[in-house]
Amino acid sequence: MDTTKYIFVTDGASSSLVKGIIAASLDKLLQARGYRVTIQKLDPYINVDPGTLNPYEHGECYVTNDGAETDLDLGHYERFLNVATSQANNVTTGRIYQSVIEKERRGEFLGKTVQVVPHITNEIKDRVQLLGKTGEFDIVITEIGGTVGDIESLPYIEAVRQLKWELGDNNALVIHLTLIPYLKAAGELKTKPTQHSVRTLMESGVKADILVCRTEHHISIELRKKLALFCNVQQEAVIESIDASTIYDVPILMLEEGLDKITLQKLNLSDATPPDLEHWKSFLKRHKNPKSEVTIGLIGKYVELQDSYKSILESFIHAGAENEVKVKVISIHSEYINKTNIAEKFSGLNGIVVAPGFGERGIEGKIEAVRYARENNIPYLGICLGMQMAVIEFARNVMHLEGANSSEMDKETPYPVIDLMEEQKSITNKGGTMRLGAWKCDLKKDSIVGKVYNTKTIEERHRHRYEYNDEYRDQLEAAGLVATGINPDTGLVEIIEIPSHPWFVGVQYHPEYKSTVVSPHPLFVAFVKAALKHSKNK
Ligand code: GLN
Repeated sequence: MDTTKYIFVTDGASSSLVKGIIAASLDKLLQARGYRVTIQKLDPYINVDPGTLNPYEHGECYVTNDGAETDLDLGHYERFLNVATSQANNVTTGRIYQSVIEKERRGEFLGKTVQVVPHITNEIKDRVQLLGKTGEFDIVITEIGGTVGDIESLPYIEAVRQLKWELGDNNALVIHLTLIPYLKAAGELKTKPTQHSVRTLMESGVKADILVCRTEHHISIELRKKLALFCNVQQEAVIESIDASTIYDVPILMLEEGLDKITLQKLNLSDATPPDLEHWKSFLKRHKNPKSEVTIGLIGKYVELQDSYKSILESFIHAGAENEVKVKVISIHSEYINKTNIAEKFSGLNGIVVAPGFGERGIEGKIEAVRYARENNIPYLGICLGMQMAVIEFARNVMHLEGANSSEMDKETPYPVIDLMEEQKSITNKGGTMRLGAWKCDLKKDSIVGKVYNTKTIEERHRHRYEYNDEYRDQLEAAGLVATGINPDTGLVEIIEIPSHPWFVGVQYHPEYKSTVVSPHPLFVAFVKAALKHSKNK
């Protein structure tokens, strides 16, 4: 294909309408028909990236290979498409302004007054076309964060209007997501909010080409006709998006609704090749028909918001399907775990994960959780902070280094078994300054990870500032906590294991960012297998 086609996805009702899932599902279908696709997310907030945001704000911060700290929707894109994303796939208003202001300081605008239109909108348009211009993609989907009509979204909607006009018919289209509420008292689905949001979009000069209507009940033919007439779209362009039991059903539901077909038609692209969804369907079949069940405790401090650990939860879905096991994940708040209640809280767990995190709150509960897993031979997976907690627990309770800690939590600790690297010590800026993105790691042959990955060197994604302190390595190893993954360039310890325990692994990186439907992460697959063994031995 010589020209890249652009699809914009806008939101008409509320930002939690799973726009990202619809976008990822459509891209999955287009990919399954042989098109080269990618998705990008534009976020209308002023933070330069979500890296400095508390998970309670927008959920987990997702990290790409090139070290971009991004919106969690990029995780969905990778999980659905199995194609790596990068910094170019997530742009915020903050980043747009930052780069326009830097250009202004460099004198690039030649003394002109710098304005939202055209300078900010031009920057948005450039960012949208960046991926298309690489020549790597036939179709780029751009998901516009926020809701149409928001003050923050205006420059984005204006950029979409201009791009649609510049690229011409058949090269760009707008999919508008709306809500069709069901009024229980009247027993009716209501189309008015959809009509209004389409009108709001129109006020900015943008016509919706396709409507995706979120609904709890099926939309009748009559209602589809009405929506088409009043929203100025073809009847086939009214797509029902009914509540699904799993997000992984959505591509199949969109296929049944013909979302991919109408999209291709409007972009003047062939729909002759039917989508090949064999692998997807077999994953769904395994996911929905488990042969047994395991219970995993996820220990974290952001557990009130499920989105905080999105990638971990999805990794368990992939690993569960791979093992034909239902993985029941129980979130346990680390702040409320203590020596007296732990046995009761943890009874029935077949595996324990201590989640990533920052700061002191809740860490003593996490350390207790590690101890419980270690002493009771329960499979343990420590992710990032969870690995650091495992080192601290071991130092305190096995090596009796009283007060051992990470210098993140206790600057005065007598035994900083987790500490800052020299080059981190002088950094004062918080944004984008952690160890980020993909780093190499050499695996020890006869270790759990050596067998699980079945290769010598891996690359995994990082997002942390503190490190395993190599000064304690000999002592830790002599006492039974072994380093089994080492960064070949820096010598940093990336993985620890306890060989005398049935399955105890801590990783300084985030395996959850790399698990996809097509390629479930081997570490999660092996951990679930170990949990299954634990449940059978009980
Ligand atoms: N707070 C720890 C660090 O910065 C761990 C970070 C994480 O779990 N992602 O090193």
